[in-house]
Amino acid sequence: MIDFVGAGPGAADLITVRGAELLKNADVIIYAGSLVNPELLKYAKEGCKIYNSAQMTLEEVVSVMLDAEAKGLSTVRLHTGDPAIYGAIREQMDILDEHNIKYDVCPGVSSMFGAAAALRAEFTLPDVSQSVIVTRMAGRTPVPESESIESFAAHNATMVIFLSAGMTEELSKRLINGGYAPDTPAAIVYKATWDDEKVLKTTVKDLHKTAEENGITKTALILVGGFLGDKYDRSKLYDPHFSHGFREGKKD
Ligand code: SAH
Repeated sequence: MIDFVGAGPGAADLITVRGAELLKNADVIIYAGSLVNPELLKYAKEGCKIYNSAQMTLEEVVSVMLDAEAKGLSTVRLHTGDPAIYGAIREQMDILDEHNIKYDVCPGVSSMFGAAAALRAEFTLPDVSQSVIVTRMAGRTPVPESESIESFAAHNATMVIFLSAGMTEELSKRLINGGYAPDTPAAIVYKATWDDEKVLKTTVKDLHKTAEENGITKTALILVGGFLGDKYDRSKLYDPHFSHGFREGKKD
């Protein structure tokens, strides 16, 4: 059995209870060493074989899994944040399918939620934005043309941008070209929930300056939108005059 497990954004106690149990019982752990907190390996039982996938190819990762499977051992593949976001798990699962090997996925806390917590922010504020766009700039991995930063910026919604901390100059220009006002609030959250976390509040126009001044080029999220500002409407759900299935609203 193979379990793909979300390690959470950084702090070792942000793995799920289920994820920690799977780690404790694993005979083999393959962890994404570039971003997974090595402190999580304290859960590994004695004799557990541990591999750092930062130095491995897909073929090498799968070969460790197949080998463990042939010996009847259980494997945890530990991915940073939640495996469904830029986790490259699909290609692993497809090969396991070809070999008729069973696997499961245990979700994790994505760094986008670690960053929201670090900012004490809510992504979805009434009358500001009710949508969250999760995207990245094209790097060595291309982004489909129909998903340009400009096209998303036109919505003026909440935007969370992964894998782009080294490209803030171009990002800032494209966000403004797409339709965000230059003084739209923005933030850079570096290593959310790690001990050396940095939370930098800025604006779309000053994104690059902020990244440069703080020496940030990787392991950071860029967050953009009015949700980082001061204006919003109260929720309907908790409005004293609003009725719903669980509560009768006041009449006055
Ligand atoms: N699956 C992961 C994302 C992996 S892609 C998740 O759900 O969070 C790697 C990118 O995620 C990094 O380049 C960075 O943009 C972001 N990232 C991962 N961990 C982070 C953290 N603790 N703080 C800020 N950004 C982080």
